[in-house]
Amino acid sequence: MNLEDNYGRKHDYLRISITDRCNLRCIYCMGEDGIKLLNHNEILTYEEIVGFVKVLSPLGLRRLRITGGEPLVRKGVENLIGSLSGIAGIEDIALTTNGELLEPMLDKLMDNGLKRVNISLDSLKPDLYKKITRVGNLDKVLKGINSALRKGLTPIKINVVLMAGVNDQEIYEFLKLTLDDPIHVRFIEYMPLDGHDQMWSKRYLPLNAVKEKAAGLGFRLNPEEGLVGNGTAETWRIHGAQGTIGFINPVSCHFCSSCTRLRLTADGKFKPCLYWQEEINVRKALKNPLVLQSLIKQGLSLKHEKHQMNAQTQGNEQGYVRSMAQIGG
Ligand code: SAM
Ligand code: SF4
Repeated sequence: MNLEDNYGRKHDYLRISITDRCNLRCIYCMGEDGIKLLNHNEILTYEEIVGFVKVLSPLGLRRLRITGGEPLVRKGVENLIGSLSGIAGIEDIALTTNGELLEPMLDKLMDNGLKRVNISLDSLKPDLYKKITRVGNLDKVLKGINSALRKGLTPIKINVVLMAGVNDQEIYEFLKLTLDDPIHVRFIEYMPLDGHDQMWSKRYLPLNAVKEKAAGLGFRLNPEEGLVGNGTAETWRIHGAQGTIGFINPVSCHFCSSCTRLRLTADGKFKPCLYWQEEINVRKALKNPLVLQSLIKQGLSLKHEKHQMNAQTQGNEQGYVRSMAQIGG
């Protein structure tokens, strides 16, 4: 058995959500009171996560991303990274974080095998950053980014969710970040996954807006290939810049034909696609590799050729929509 689906896509990449808890309350991700949290006993233990990866790595799994909620709020995340990096076949472990807790944790994360980090940062203005995250402190995030640059944890990717009337006036500042440092800014289209307010229809902006702005500023964008872990991003480089600019446009443009991602939610659901409701509870099979393999196979067979964001945004039979913090972004 390998991790191939019905459309010939071979999956080598797993995003693991280790918690649904978060220290921020980003406006596009959750309401100001947060989300309905899982009970502690519903969340996979680190041993269970390691066991899951050990079953998938002989089938072709090579790359892991630790995410959440905010992964750095879960105690001992560096030990999990240490255990995962010791699994035969695993070549790359990355982390997606809001960066607030990163700076004091960097050394131990890197010592345990963290190779790369994506930091979510939607504004470079302290007041607007606070408004978007509701409680965040920009200074702490910038310290984390600078420290990661100094320590050579590269490529550093900055994830920016573009929102009309919120941060679209800062496109120039984000483009400029890529000029002098190996920073890769990835603009992400706002996806209608919050399930809390109806902000999406007012704030969604297709990423062409960034290309138009770059052209208007006289930046020459050259297509770029070969940036590590860039499966779903279309990547460009401003002529002469150290870093690059990525576009992740799941709303205006499908990248499904090149999608090699799988997901494991914090409560042990195997999810072949972010945008469909289908998920398989693998927790109960974690002690039995053969049963687990057959559940994985079943999960892969559920992966559709293309996503249909509506299938996710309409929710399940009870109308329940999981936010990115609950699925694992
Ligand atoms: N807390 C970490 C962070 O913010 O980086 C990791 C989890 S977060 C859910 C992962 C990514 O999902 C972040 O880059 C965030 O900006 C993105 N995200 C969350 N909700 C989104 C939405 N509705 N549309 C687009 N991106 C979203
Ligand atoms: Fe937390 Fe990340 Fe969601 Fe922001 S995007 S609320 S940091 S999980």
